[in-house]
Amino acid sequence: MKRPLCVFVFVSCPLAAVITYAQTRTAATAGAASAPSQSGLQLDALDRSADPCTDFFQFACGSWVANNPIPADRSSWGRFDELQDRNNETLKTILESAAGGGDPQSQKIGDYYASCMDEKAIDAKGIAPLDPLLKKIGAVTTASELAPIVAELHTIGVDVFFGFGSEADFKDASLEMAIADRGGMGLPERDYYFRDDAKSKELREQYVAHVAKMLSLLGVPQAQADASAQAIMRLETALAKGALDVVSRRDPTKIYHKLTPEALQTLTPQFPWQQYFKGIGAPPIYALNVTEPDFFRALGQTLDSTSVDDLKAYLRWHVAHSSAPVLAKPFVDENFKFYGTALTGAKELRPRWKRCVQYTDGDLGEALGQAFVKEKFGPEAKADTLKMVHEIEAALEKDLNTLTWMTDATKREAMTKLHAVADKIGYPDNWRDYSALRVARGDALGNSQRANAFEFRRQLNKIGKTVDKSEWGMTPPTVNAYYNPLQNNINFPAGILQPPFYSVKSDAGVNYGGVGAVVGHELTHGFDDQGRQFDARGNLKEWWTAQDAKAFTDRAQCLVDEYGGFTAIDDVKVNGKLTLGENTADNGGLRLALMAYMAGVAATGKTLDGFTPEQRFFLGWGQIWCANRRPEAMRMMAQTNPHSPEKYRVNGVVSNMPEFQRAFSCKADTPMVRQTQCRVW
Ligand SMILES: [Zn+2]
Repeated sequence: MKRPLCVFVFVSCPLAAVITYAQTRTAATAGAASAPSQSGLQLDALDRSADPCTDFFQFACGSWVANNPIPADRSSWGRFDELQDRNNETLKTILESAAGGGDPQSQKIGDYYASCMDEKAIDAKGIAPLDPLLKKIGAVTTASELAPIVAELHTIGVDVFFGFGSEADFKDASLEMAIADRGGMGLPERDYYFRDDAKSKELREQYVAHVAKMLSLLGVPQAQADASAQAIMRLETALAKGALDVVSRRDPTKIYHKLTPEALQTLTPQFPWQQYFKGIGAPPIYALNVTEPDFFRALGQTLDSTSVDDLKAYLRWHVAHSSAPVLAKPFVDENFKFYGTALTGAKELRPRWKRCVQYTDGDLGEALGQAFVKEKFGPEAKADTLKMVHEIEAALEKDLNTLTWMTDATKREAMTKLHAVADKIGYPDNWRDYSALRVARGDALGNSQRANAFEFRRQLNKIGKTVDKSEWGMTPPTVNAYYNPLQNNINFPAGILQPPFYSVKSDAGVNYGGVGAVVGHELTHGFDDQGRQFDARGNLKEWWTAQDAKAFTDRAQCLVDEYGGFTAIDDVKVNGKLTLGENTADNGGLRLALMAYMAGVAATGKTLDGFTPEQRFFLGWGQIWCANRRPEAMRMMAQTNPHSPEKYRVNGVVSNMPEFQRAFSCKADTPMVRQTQCRVW
């Protein structure tokens, strides 16, 4: 339905792996209640038979992992999901009451949710709601007529050929600029089109079968649907050939190419850009970031070499694909079969209300979030979190001052950047105004399309204007957090500022190991392999001396090697380069949280629940990552996601820390004490 959050914020910013599709659990494991403990640790999650110095993840989470099998409707299940589920229960109550009507404040979210829930009405309509679009596609006779229909599809959220929108100019981050990015490929990532191992080949076969099935659901005769699916696969593969791989995409210099519209036209002579700009109603565009010029060259050639009938089949497929979640049951089921089951291993579709809560959050997130915050996030939690953020920023300042590998010149610049970081806690100061968005009861697909159009126009309206840094890239109930390198700010939605991450009732060690480390993680992103390339104002600009940059890269290489040695599943290793930014943030973040903890309330030396203050801190960290993941989802994660699997987020970090070794009295030759301990920050 909606473009994934960070499509244009090129940095994969979230704290935790976000996997679309199959996102909620069964009721059986709802918000597993914590075993009573004095500290706030979940004592019944521990595996006391494990040796913390051999496998700390197992010690912290072993019983949780054993006792929390993945619900049938999920591809993975962890502490983040438990909390998100609790938040979703709150959202459900809000939405059901809103759907009951009577309150003009909540009418839009109520109507949206009620329309989504009305499965009977949706099923009765069949593919009728798509008719107008399918007719327009049918009327196209030559490739040169594509621009208006591509413009219309982009407006309502159908991802064909490429993506378009607004983003800060990387080199003048105070200004919004148009951006054209690669897009229009239905598999999760570029390399899915090319890997030649058996599992990847099988997935491609399943994908082609899925595309054919979706076309046949649109009424295309089977033989034609099969042939079209093959052609669509060829088309998407040709696009993918021009696209950067997932590691290259992490390098901001590789995805910043400021061009004039004329230069873009030269790159893609086969596509009439001015017609497209007119079609989407763009303001005057004098320059734009064409993220991947090679992709747009490949796009042009593909338009040239593909028959009009195949191009039209491609558009139909993507219309069905992006509409499927709010279409009739056969579309929902077929969509789940590939994206839920084949790709991520989920066995069952989530109950409808869970999907509808998610879609309402995606389309009207700040209207729904406002109600959530009223119920779940008081001023005390906000003040407490802000206090912790300041302490962790102070810890980074101290760390910078004592670094031995950085010259004073670079240190001064780093300090300037640190002092400029803006802290955003809980929810936006100004809530988004949805008054221009029409939500109609009984029109689920229309609501989704209008919500996408509302968002697309909102983005286009920004082009050429000053960046509004008060905006949020996540909705308040989200259990996640992010750093935005183009704005130099850290963002913590209300959704994550709850147990097991944070509680006023928890021991400080547990809170610092939980939300404290989350804060440290996001702050460190400003100084990881990617973030360090942006200055205090969010501009892509070198502020490191050559000598310091080299020292950084050498230190980072230690993490690349360490994590690259971990096995995700079967023969698939963790990609040390892909996960470098996140691993840097995990390692730096936990250290900063520990520094803040030890400097403040920390070490009274008091033992709680049988653990010392330092032990509780490390267990707080370990226990936010308790999780299970299906083999399919693990494979997809390792191949596409910049985050390491949970086990390594725990063991990879603590095995680098002498502080951990001391806290648990680990002998030097135990697995949780690495021979070469990596440290960047
Ligand atoms: Zn992160």
